[in-house]
Amino acid sequence: MSTTTFARAATPKQLAFIDRLRAERGLAAYDGPALSTRTASAHIDELMAMPRPRVERAPEAFTGAPVPSEPGVYDLEGVFYYAIPTRNTGKIWTYTITAEGKRGEFFGGMVKLRGARRLSAEEVSALAIARGHTYCILCSRLLTDPESVARGIGPICARNY
Ligand SMILES: [Zn+2]
Repeated sequence: MSTTTFARAATPKQLAFIDRLRAERGLAAYDGPALSTRTASAHIDELMAMPRPRVERAPEAFTGAPVPSEPGVYDLEGVFYYAIPTRNTGKIWTYTITAEGKRGEFFGGMVKLRGARRLSAEEVSALAIARGHTYCILCSRLLTDPESVARGIGPICARNY
């Protein structure tokens, strides 16, 4: 009978926990030397101490589709959003569009629009008219000029889109 003592191998539970912690931190599955219960525990501590990046939980975030960078109106799986740069910093924020054509729910940066399709100026106009918007879909200003109302977009926005 051998009296040599070997370090006990890490438990399946430890290994599964390590994989989960690594995935949450954007790391590939562990493929280093075989872990003992002790070294696995140390690695778990190390991983727990690492900051966990904020993960976008929306399913579209995992499709690998590109995140758009241009302001405009976007179609994401049949829901329309608009992306508009802030006046102060120029950072582009994403909102839904209300029934009137104004800014709706706020979604933060453009990562929300991963895989979304940017509408052409004609499509934006058609959408605004179809939905009967009373506000410019691009800047949330009330449309007053009959020509703008017919187009669904204000004159400056129509020129710049
Ligand atoms: Zn406008």
